[in-house]
Amino acid sequence: MKFSDFNLKDTIQAAIIEAGFTEPSPIQRDAIPLVLKGHDMVAQAQTGTGKTAAFGLPIMSMMKANGNIESLVIVPTRELAIQVSDELFRFGKLSGIKTATVYGGTPYGKQIERIRQASIVVATPGRLQDLLMSGKIKITPRFVVLDEADEMLDMGFLDEIKKIFTYLPKERQTLLFSATMPNAIRKLAEQILKNPKTVSITKSEKTNTKITQLYYVVQERERDDALVRLIDYKNPKKCIIFCRMKKEVDRLVAHLTAQGFKVSGLHGDMEQKQREITIRAFKQGGIDIFIATDVASRGLDVNDVTHVFNYHIPFDSESYVHRIGRTGRGGKSGEAITLVSPNELRTIKRIEKDVGTKMITQVIPTRMEVQNNRKDALIHKITQTKITDKAVELVKTLQHDIDIVTIAHLLAAVIQSEDSVKGKDNIGLGLEEIELLIERAMQNHKNSGSGRNHRRGSGGRYRNNRFGGNHHRHHRGNRSKNRRI
Ligand code: ADP
Ligand code: MG
Repeated sequence: MKFSDFNLKDTIQAAIIEAGFTEPSPIQRDAIPLVLKGHDMVAQAQTGTGKTAAFGLPIMSMMKANGNIESLVIVPTRELAIQVSDELFRFGKLSGIKTATVYGGTPYGKQIERIRQASIVVATPGRLQDLLMSGKIKITPRFVVLDEADEMLDMGFLDEIKKIFTYLPKERQTLLFSATMPNAIRKLAEQILKNPKTVSITKSEKTNTKITQLYYVVQERERDDALVRLIDYKNPKKCIIFCRMKKEVDRLVAHLTAQGFKVSGLHGDMEQKQREITIRAFKQGGIDIFIATDVASRGLDVNDVTHVFNYHIPFDSESYVHRIGRTGRGGKSGEAITLVSPNELRTIKRIEKDVGTKMITQVIPTRMEVQNNRKDALIHKITQTKITDKAVELVKTLQHDIDIVTIAHLLAAVIQSEDSVKGKDNIGLGLEEIELLIERAMQNHKNSGSGRNHRRGSGGRYRNNRFGGNHHRHHRGNRSKNRRI
């Protein structure tokens, strides 16, 4: 199926080509024709599946761009407002469609000025409600979209949303997009939509199979070491580390910066300007590692995130899905890595069940494995490098006093001098140990309170007697099977 099958107007079609989209995503394939027919719609699909274009393309195709506000898009956070606005601008600019972005924490004046000139308003609920109730703006949009509706409800915006709808015209087309469909969303849909069509991308399509999901079991006090080792080993081009609390974000920023990584934190307390600068630096590659809380990262759309780390496993499956959806976007592959303590294994099992995918457990690489990895990368780099005049000159000079083999050794030593891997050799639990713990956790779960709880004794027994059994072994071929005995 192609975008040209949809009957979108020419200027929109041209913008799609310019954006480089070739094939509609499943949610776009299902949603676009229904929106074009004028239906209200409830649409469910996981993050990163192209929901913005799924509503943006058809409504912009139907807009007149006549200087009035024709569309209103309500989103949960400031970051998301900016992102959705950028994406809509990209598709609408050839059609003369201007967007205004409206969120709290910035002066009213400029925003109101923008709204006067725009055809689409993208707004967060709080500020929008302010503007409407105080009479600072009056709008009569034909199209109203609630984007990431589950997030908005999670963040406690239900009242604001209901209030906002009392200011909107009855004659309108309303679309509700959400990654999940809890009951509260269905109820809200009943109140604000008229005979909606439902579009839901089925489970197998919903879970992004391009994301490899791994988890590592560590003791509480090993989390920092494990994180650094895994970053060293995976060498991510761009990654996001999720934390539960703001103070954890601050602590990890300090810790990883001290280890020499290019890190920045993002949390709700930061000033808007600072947040925008930080996000831009991350997008453009000035920062490799982003450390964030759930709230701060809602809907964050940064391309090319290669890895997502969960420093702690999130409390619920939905935030897990949201978090890992920050990677593997736009059809690219990604890796989601979760650190859990033995006590949290049961949460892993629950999330696996809720999400309908299996996570793979692995052992944290040793210093030697990281070193070998780096050596391979270095050899690759050396063999791919082009010889320069300057290099030839340098070797010539050195050759006055030193023989050529010694020169080679010295140069290699220079390159590798910064190469030491920090931390103790073995971090976290071995596979055998993890398997026993899982088995025990599941048993405990089934007969909680029964005498079987203690049948294996304490996990500590296996601490110095680890096996690297060969089941669950993925992505890595040449590791010695019994290296930890
Ligand atoms: P969601 O709202 O479902 O989380 P987005 O609308 O933010 O997803 O889209 C995620 C990313 O995928 C964006 O960078 C977007 O430009 C890109 N994208 C969306 N649809 C397509 C498509 N059909 N082809 C290629 N890239 C796409
Ligand atoms: Mg979205």
